[in-house]
Amino acid sequence: MQYNQLGNTDIFVSKLCFGSLPLGPLQKNIALKDGVAVIEKAIELGVNFIDTADLYGTYPYIKEVLKTHKDLVVATKSYAYDTETAKQTLERALHQTGREYIDIFLLHEQEGPLTLKGHREALEYFIAKKHDGIIRAVGISTHHVTAVKAAALMKEIDVIHPILNYKGLGIVDGSRQEMEQAIKLAYECGKGIYIMKALGGGHLITDIQQAFRYILDFPYAHSIAVGMQRVEEVCANISFFESGTIPNNLQSALESYERKLFIHDWCVGCGKCVDRCSQNALRIDSDGKAYVLHEKCLLCGYCGSVCDHLAIKVI
Ligand code: SF4
Ligand code: SF4
Repeated sequence: MQYNQLGNTDIFVSKLCFGSLPLGPLQKNIALKDGVAVIEKAIELGVNFIDTADLYGTYPYIKEVLKTHKDLVVATKSYAYDTETAKQTLERALHQTGREYIDIFLLHEQEGPLTLKGHREALEYFIAKKHDGIIRAVGISTHHVTAVKAAALMKEIDVIHPILNYKGLGIVDGSRQEMEQAIKLAYECGKGIYIMKALGGGHLITDIQQAFRYILDFPYAHSIAVGMQRVEEVCANISFFESGTIPNNLQSALESYERKLFIHDWCVGCGKCVDRCSQNALRIDSDGKAYVLHEKCLLCGYCGSVCDHLAIKVI
């Protein structure tokens, strides 16, 4: 496994980052011991970096893993916008992971200069906690080219977690090439870059080798976060990251794991999920039920977090 210094931070991360979103309640909701076993397999094979979020509900898995792997690099993120919400989400991360510090704390889903301005108070809080030694690096996660460009030029931002994949899926305000240029700028400004959605949230799984080849050839990323929920996925991904190939048996296992967004018929058509989806992938039909435009959906499961009726899920 290759390890890289994350931009100008003092954090060294494996080229493959364990994306924990698929383990938790927004997606597969795997039993604690099974989820821990998947993360531990990745660590055994060289991964030292895990990505989570206040929203994901995966801190309990990480807490278990940290008991025996104390140096695991943990990146998390929240929608905090002011001092109070920043304090709450940081305290929740510390309490629920059982750790006295968080390696990387990001402002989740930033869209550009305006949202960065709107979250300034939270950012200031996280920067103050960095000076106190509670956080090691601060930054943003984003699907927007504009946000990457803005954060690249902010000296107080250490890390950027942008979306990129060879089809440009999920980039909200530009092309793949424009996102590549923005990330290059950020990388050259010394930002730590770890990419999300290299497999398009699962859409590119049948094309996994091309998707990985593209992202591993992209020279401006220190690490790539890939969501994993099975030991076979861990073994396949690490095999490709280390040798550029995936054994046939693992490749067929991966292709059999089709994921999709499912909306139960008890949906009441309130529209909260439609407002929540930054990909504009949900609509309400003439019968007053939500439906998904599969070609736009990145299978992140964020819409499920706002449904009071538990009617929407990525499975
Ligand atoms: S939030 Fe839930 S109940 Fe409301 S429209 Fe979406 S799926 Fe239906
Ligand atoms: S529809 Fe839901 S799962 Fe799909 S991209 Fe939107 S928020 Fe994510």
